[in-house]
Amino acid sequence: MREAYDVTVEEDAASSATVGEASSGVVLLGKYRLKELLGVGAFAKVYHATNVSTGQSVAIKALSKREVFRGGLMEHVEREISIMRRLHHPHTLKLFEVLASKSKIYFVLELAKGGELFDKVAQGRFSEDLSRRYFHQLISAVRYCHSAGVFHRDLKLDNLLIDENMDLKVSDFGLSALKDHVRPDGLLHTVCGTPAYVAPEMLAKKGYEGAKVDVWSCGVILFVLAAGYLPFNDHNLAAMYWKICRGQFRFPRWTSPELRRFLSRLLDKNPETRITVDEIIRDPWFSKGYREVRVQHKEFESDHEQSRHRGLNAFDLISFSSGLDMSGLFTDSGSSDCVERIVSGGKPANIMEKVEGVAKAEGVIVRKEANGEGAKLEGQRGNIMIRIGIYRLTDKLVVVEAKRRERRAGNGKGTKFWEDKLNPELQRLVYKAGDQK
Ligand code: AMP
Repeated sequence: MREAYDVTVEEDAASSATVGEASSGVVLLGKYRLKELLGVGAFAKVYHATNVSTGQSVAIKALSKREVFRGGLMEHVEREISIMRRLHHPHTLKLFEVLASKSKIYFVLELAKGGELFDKVAQGRFSEDLSRRYFHQLISAVRYCHSAGVFHRDLKLDNLLIDENMDLKVSDFGLSALKDHVRPDGLLHTVCGTPAYVAPEMLAKKGYEGAKVDVWSCGVILFVLAAGYLPFNDHNLAAMYWKICRGQFRFPRWTSPELRRFLSRLLDKNPETRITVDEIIRDPWFSKGYREVRVQHKEFESDHEQSRHRGLNAFDLISFSSGLDMSGLFTDSGSSDCVERIVSGGKPANIMEKVEGVAKAEGVIVRKEANGEGAKLEGQRGNIMIRIGIYRLTDKLVVVEAKRRERRAGNGKGTKFWEDKLNPELQRLVYKAGDQK
């Protein structure tokens, strides 16, 4: 069985609370004590919090499930989880775990104590040396992400946070596109991002390369750091787009010739001739004092591989917690198979043993899967076909999933076996809040 999910579902109403308006002091799942509000984004509120047992400071991003479902943001959130789990770099924001309550989804994130880089520049433009320091860290993170097949697509100052050592943390991968989302022509097709940072080819809506648009946005960021204002700006959006498409900007008089040359390579309106990340590393302005951060790509799997291993993804698990009562069966009515799930506090091996016991007593054949996560139950005349899957939910809880193929022309034996034998046995394994199994 694979490692535990980093998704925890609120189990007991009495021992936990959800984030309301006045949340300071609230303890979430008995695990995180909420402190002050750090910021409000388009879909989320972000709180400072401490881990009750370790004292570690974290940031908790709270999203309303209702808004996530209503706004069709499910895919967005799921993608953010999947991407952030894969990235391990000193300059990308870490996702520690995901919690869910009846009404909210919580991302437990690395805390960026220094806040937004934007606020620092708003106090005054940076020297070229300081701009270069942050740009080194940004490019290091972007290069790592690109080599992992992840493109940010919404790089902007608001997404650059600062930690307690004044080092950069790139956040908000919600709009990122994985290589899997590239169409057969090799280009990405969704227009996203923030107008002032968006590359001209994205506006042209002809498809674009994720790596190229990230380089353009990095160019806009470097310009803002060194100049203190945006290269392409206009209160009229159409006029701003026009300036971007023409690559029309002016260097402030204090920028050095080396920086001007470098910026014009980054903000080249033609993606074909625009500087690449590898060329950036060799640029004379950039290379001064640059030291590559060496990071290993850990357990980098495609979404498909992940779901094949796990059977369920983080979002399935969050969806399970639609109510506080986790003891019921969850029926998936949208499927031609009949899928029922329970949450149990039992050990996977013991659960499998119970299933085997019931099956064998009824003459049902059990074919265990090699990975130990499941088994197929087959009736001797093919009239019973049930797949049992056991997936770890938290260190203490597992989800037991029973997928039944309903046969119209059956003799009812399969249904009887399920209703009278297997299901009652599984019901005995159901986790109840307060269980100490
Ligand atoms: P977001 O919804 O990600 O745009 O976050 C809203 C705001 O919360 C940001 O603009 C930051 O000011 C703040 N924030 C988000 N994540 C963190 C974090 N990990 N540490 C500190 N502040 C954060």
